[in-house]
Amino acid sequence: MDFSKMLHKFTVVPSLTGELAALQRIAYNMWWCWEPDAINLFRRIDAELWQATRHNPVEMLGILQQTTLEVLKSDEGFMAHLRMVNEKLTEYLQSRTWFDRNCNGGSKMKVAYFSMEFGLHESLPIYSGGLGILAGDHLKSASDLGIPLVGVGLLYRQGYFRQYLNNEGWQQEIYPENDFYNLPLVMERDDSGAPLSFLLEFGSRKFHVRIWRVQVGRVPFYLLDTNLEENSREDRLITAQLYGGDQEMRILQEIVLGIGGIRALRALGIVPNVCHMNEGHAAFLALERIRLLMEARGLDYKEASEIVRAGNVFTTHTPVEAGIDHFPAELLEKYFGRYYRGLGLSSEEFIGLGRQNPRNVQESFCMAVLALKLAGHTNGVSQLHGEVSRKMWKNTWPELPEEQLPLTSITNGVHTRTWMSNHMASLLVRYLGTRWLDDPTDHSVWRRIARIPDAELWRTQQSCREKLVDFARRRLKEQLIKVGATIKEISTAEEVLDPEVLTIGFARRFATYKRGTLLMRDLDRLARILNNTEMPVQIIFAGKAHPQDHEGKELIRQIVQVSHQERFRHRIVFIEDYDIEVARHLVQGVDVWLNTPLRPMEASGTSGMKVAFNGGLNMSVLDGWWCEGYQANNGWAIGKGEVYEDTEYQNQVESRATYDLLEKEVVPHYYDRGSDGVPRAWVATMKASLLSLCPVFSTDRMVQEYTERSYQPAFAQWGKFVADDCALAIEVAGWKERIFKAWPMVRIEQVDAEASDAVAVGSSIPVSAHIMLGDIPKGDIAVEGYFGVLDSTGNIQGGEIVTLDHQEDLGNSVHRFGSEIECRFCGRHGFMLRLMPRHPVLGNIYEPGYLIWG
Ligand SMILES: *Cc1c(COP(=O)(O)O)cnc(C)c1O
Repeated sequence: MDFSKMLHKFTVVPSLTGELAALQRIAYNMWWCWEPDAINLFRRIDAELWQATRHNPVEMLGILQQTTLEVLKSDEGFMAHLRMVNEKLTEYLQSRTWFDRNCNGGSKMKVAYFSMEFGLHESLPIYSGGLGILAGDHLKSASDLGIPLVGVGLLYRQGYFRQYLNNEGWQQEIYPENDFYNLPLVMERDDSGAPLSFLLEFGSRKFHVRIWRVQVGRVPFYLLDTNLEENSREDRLITAQLYGGDQEMRILQEIVLGIGGIRALRALGIVPNVCHMNEGHAAFLALERIRLLMEARGLDYKEASEIVRAGNVFTTHTPVEAGIDHFPAELLEKYFGRYYRGLGLSSEEFIGLGRQNPRNVQESFCMAVLALKLAGHTNGVSQLHGEVSRKMWKNTWPELPEEQLPLTSITNGVHTRTWMSNHMASLLVRYLGTRWLDDPTDHSVWRRIARIPDAELWRTQQSCREKLVDFARRRLKEQLIKVGATIKEISTAEEVLDPEVLTIGFARRFATYKRGTLLMRDLDRLARILNNTEMPVQIIFAGKAHPQDHEGKELIRQIVQVSHQERFRHRIVFIEDYDIEVARHLVQGVDVWLNTPLRPMEASGTSGMKVAFNGGLNMSVLDGWWCEGYQANNGWAIGKGEVYEDTEYQNQVESRATYDLLEKEVVPHYYDRGSDGVPRAWVATMKASLLSLCPVFSTDRMVQEYTERSYQPAFAQWGKFVADDCALAIEVAGWKERIFKAWPMVRIEQVDAEASDAVAVGSSIPVSAHIMLGDIPKGDIAVEGYFGVLDSTGNIQGGEIVTLDHQEDLGNSVHRFGSEIECRFCGRHGFMLRLMPRHPVLGNIYEPGYLIWG
């Protein structure tokens, strides 16, 4: 018997009446999690409960006894504090923003940001790692900057697993259930007050989806949930677990995120004109946008896709193929058979959208390729990752030289107020004022860092380190109690680490490429470094391995085993269950953040940026963001960015380089103290790091960049296409069809570049070409010269483009085009001609198969 059907359900809510109702208001806006006054307010209610609920104000308020509430009401100090925070929230929501000031406040731009995971705070566990934290920080900065943006994600009953280690150091996973009624969630309802939901029908699956909302400052963040009573048991499981289940589960989750996401927004009356796909998981949204436009405006697929592509933005995050979703064609047929036919596509056309080469039947359907093809703005997450991505996806644009692929980079950042310690923030306010809080990208404000007295910056760092050591001891003690350690063992937890000692942090996912055990390759050498009596060093580790990644778990086990050796017992600690809370303590308290990825596998990395905002120094392989962040005076680079064929050899070289750096530079630098105990040179490095990194590596800078380089251009382009009943989209789609049909007749008949063999630098040489145009009007073709210095393999390096203008009709559809090229550099040059369609409004149109080189 299914008793659940007989249950009458009801929700009990705390009785927060009168002025105390403001607590509820604050708890239900995630703004509190980056506002120290609000955090302190909640902690003040009951510090123990605050900790026990994992800093979850909604849950805490639900547990409070009525008597406690009465006490609070009569506590004048508390009530004043509450009033102050409440007013601050109102002020925050009403203040004029960066977007208002800089981006035409009346703009009709509406961005929807889609991601499979969002990491806003430890109390809302629907994230696994970097991708989710970035998405969370993106929403927070979008709120601060006033970007008209909404978030869209999935509400999982189980977020990522929680980690604990058994006695041997082997990772164990537990999956606690999220209790939605104790999270800051509001169920969206229709006008009659009934829960808002909609139906999805794919393959043989037919299920309802419910919409929840989390308010993130100004930004509404919508979460989708299939765990409804009216759904079948199977369908209820679709949103059960973040990255859980098999490929089939994954495609269903991505259908809910992409297609369900668009439908949810529609049910809410929100029609985004710019959709941002944070990684390929959300790429199905492009299809749904196309379908809706076809339906609403009577367009065909090609016309609608012109519009939708213009209004889509895609960010890719991984430099490895294996990290990207690929689905077999059969699975797509199973779920999308009816859907793509409804779009007027053939099976080949549809599957081709997910293949770099649509005709290659060996290729499976790749979500990143779908996103690349249906987004007008695409980017990687650091400059190096941009380059790597262009290499990785170059077959999507087979005729273009790599550097010209329409895939740029916007480097990641972190949300300053989320990650910076209160100590550091108040120190900065004392010496910099508050401008850096409102506009952290203004370099001039950060120059005032120089005014902070060395001793004061150092004292701040010291007290943050002390807090970290306290935290590590407390966590270690809890870990030991859990595995049933003896009282004696537990008491040793209170003696591990030393608040005065140079503290290195290493916390990240234990994927093999991150090389968590690089420091463990020579344990005797490591012991000498850590146990140096004059200049001791300690290391705090944390991080999870993917549940199926045995190699990753083995790395954790090794570290834990090493930390149990007598010589390391006080100097190496592994903190379990790396999450936002652990990360916050670590990044705020370490002196040095160690990062040892195998280049170029780290697309960006963000934890090192969090450290930088707190005055910690980075010591990292030149990969991801550190290639841009590193300067000779603001931290350390391990190696020079070399990549060796032999990984084992590379590990050996870079592990030695790490020991060398520690022994010769980092440690002596740290212990070089003045008579007052302050390490002046170290503090100078801290200041150089703060000054050079803070204005650049924040999500404020990042979201501004997205707004200026992607969202606004996408919105403008989208607007051009939809104006006058989508006139331009219809015209362009028809134009493309005509031009593409006539294209096979286009030929390069003759090229003349009048160059004697040696050309003086600075001189120009005339070039001209005879082109057979067939039925293509001369204004509808771009004739370009691509030229530049040749590299050793005979390829043009960083070439330049010159447009050849129409000069003469030679009859029989043959025309002469010509121009001059200017030789500005010495060296062996190459010159090539290329032809592609040119639209009178949109300019050059690159589509695979329609570019001719000669
Ligand atoms: C910042 C953060 C990450 C991402 O850090 P990387 O630099 O990419 O390793 C992962 N997990 C948590 C909990 C974080 O706070």
